[in-house]
Amino acid sequence: MSERRVAEVTAAFRELYGSGPDGVWAAPGRVNLIGEHTDYNDGFVMPLALPHTALAAVARRDDGILRLHSGDVEGGVVELRAERLEPGGGGGWAAYPAGVVWALRDAGHTVTGADVHIRSTVPTGAGLSSSAALEVVTALACNDLFGLDLRPWQLARLSQRAENVFVGVPCGIMDQTAAACCTAGHALHLDTRDLAQRQVPFDLAAEGLRLLVVDTRVKHELGEGAYARRRAGCEEGARALGVQALRDVALEQLDEALAALEDPAVRRYVRHVVTENARVEQVIGLLDRGETRAIGPVLTAGHASLRDDFEVSCAELDLVVESANASGALGARMTGGGFGGSAIVLVEEARAEGVAKSVTEAFAEAGHRAPRVFTAVPSAGARRLA
Ligand code: ADP
Ligand code: MG
Repeated sequence: MSERRVAEVTAAFRELYGSGPDGVWAAPGRVNLIGEHTDYNDGFVMPLALPHTALAAVARRDDGILRLHSGDVEGGVVELRAERLEPGGGGGWAAYPAGVVWALRDAGHTVTGADVHIRSTVPTGAGLSSSAALEVVTALACNDLFGLDLRPWQLARLSQRAENVFVGVPCGIMDQTAAACCTAGHALHLDTRDLAQRQVPFDLAAEGLRLLVVDTRVKHELGEGAYARRRAGCEEGARALGVQALRDVALEQLDEALAALEDPAVRRYVRHVVTENARVEQVIGLLDRGETRAIGPVLTAGHASLRDDFEVSCAELDLVVESANASGALGARMTGGGFGGSAIVLVEEARAEGVAKSVTEAFAEAGHRAPRVFTAVPSAGARRLA
């Protein structure tokens, strides 16, 4: 499977640029098991990499020219000059890989141009982080071709900076770290304050379990302003409580903290972040004790908190969770930023097909477009393939 895709991107690269690439790299999409909207509050997250990947065939250049092409979008090769890259210049999809080259150069690394051809199986805009896959695969290719010797977490940081500053999307550090640092068979417990990581064994197949991903195929456009408001609300909450970030409010201090907050929306945001961090710890504890099935209700509780307190769910995501749980799932929740995108469902292997069918039927009954359902197999992070 991956040999065929490597051969395809290599052939397409040769066709575009006239000679072969120096190598082929891959970086995955992700789902987050638990810990949502915590990564800009210095909190905990727990993503796992998907088998879906962005592939990049890349050749180094030393003449300052950066040529970018994606086989997944219309529009041909985008040609830029490395030393003229500036944040905020628009540029559509090419801003993601160009932003990585900018971030590397801005941090003082020598990157003197490249020819790049991208091909990805990560669905875009489905909350599965196709953008981070694109950034991290570019960062890793540059790291190898220019001998930069950066660690995966550093590639993640630079990729996040590319998205924040060059593309202009104020995302946290989870997506890029997942793409750069996840390993097969594990979920990644990440402390987003100091980037401390732990690979937590998460071999669902061995336990007769499955994690389904349900892509609702909707993206409600209120998303961006709503995200900014929540980020600002979290910062306001931290300021009012006199802490560096909401991560510093322990679950035991929650009632006292809530009583000290005036704004009812900020109060709800704080409650979500504090309880969500506690849910990450709870899931880690259960997994460490081998009680994998018991994480189901924690996932569902996380969904309720995102729906009722953080208010980032939508009818389609709620319907996945309700219909999955009503038809025998162990637990379910939205994953990613919200307002559409994907949900995850933990289910006994034997019931997986029935649950997927029930969710699909519930969508048809509600008049929604059919969702896309697949199994999340915890997969490898970014790597060189050829
Ligand atoms: P998500 O990361 O959740 O998939 P984003 O809106 O953050 O959604 O990023 C999606 C954007 O990333 C796309 O609109 C496109 O600009 C870019 N992108 C992702 N994958 C590709 C690809 N294979 N080719 C070109 N651009 C891509
Ligand atoms: Mg993204």
